[in-house]
Amino acid sequence: MTEARRKLPPWLRRPWPAGHSFQHTRETVESLGIETICTNANCPNRGECWGRGTATVLILGNVCTRNCKFCSVATGKPLPPDPTEPARLADMARRMSIRYLVITSVNRDDLPDGGASHFRDCISEVRRQCPSMRFEILTPDFRGCTEQALEILETALPFVFAHNVETVPSLYPVARSGGNYEYSLNVLRMARDRYPGVQTKSSIMLGLGESDAEVEQVLRDLRRVGCDRLTIGQYLRPSKDSLEVVEYVTPEKFAWWKNRAREIGFAWVLSSPFARSSYFAEQEDAR
Ligand code: SF4
Repeated sequence: MTEARRKLPPWLRRPWPAGHSFQHTRETVESLGIETICTNANCPNRGECWGRGTATVLILGNVCTRNCKFCSVATGKPLPPDPTEPARLADMARRMSIRYLVITSVNRDDLPDGGASHFRDCISEVRRQCPSMRFEILTPDFRGCTEQALEILETALPFVFAHNVETVPSLYPVARSGGNYEYSLNVLRMARDRYPGVQTKSSIMLGLGESDAEVEQVLRDLRRVGCDRLTIGQYLRPSKDSLEVVEYVTPEKFAWWKNRAREIGFAWVLSSPFARSSYFAEQEDAR
């Protein structure tokens, strides 16, 4: 048992992934060469989600142009978008009988549209082959091309448009130095204004050293820009190069934040130690 695992409180221990359905998901994504954020971010929910026959796809490669310290995705110079990716995603969706597909991507500051046209192409192709599919996209901030990116995505609207603020603004310099809190809020505001009928969503991690007052302010800021959906989860160090956990927040405190977020006005809230942006995203009512 590793040092980090030994230190985990009991509510954060999970069984190792196994089972027929998990294997089917693994074989499908591997045989089609599909990247997932589940593996690239070392998500602790992989056993449960893959065992339920769901996975969150990571398009535009697995090399990011930024270097956020909470994330384990590799930083570097990414390859050009792969034109075969949309068809491979459609194949995966059919083989796994997925009805709600969450698509996310690395930051692609190297592309003039931030990767928006590739998001559109992926949605369009999966939708062509699986017409009843509902999509949730978790996008980067499209820094420097937000207007253009949202215009491109308008031709392939998802059910939910998500962009994560990830943490409180005071921790951006250490956790998300390539991001900007106000910019991220503005992406959500712009999506909200531009896409009536599309729900917006964001996520925040706890345990990086934020105060309750700061979390409360983030929730209020998100509602101010019209954000409908929220997940609040425990930050878990995904690699030895990532930031250390400052605090393990108790399940009771997550339950408290869920109630608080409801009071502040979110329609859909998932707040628990293992909550992640895509965790049970397909549920009509968050548990
Ligand atoms: S919570 Fe999301 S990223 Fe984690 S395993 Fe589930 S689908 Fe994948």
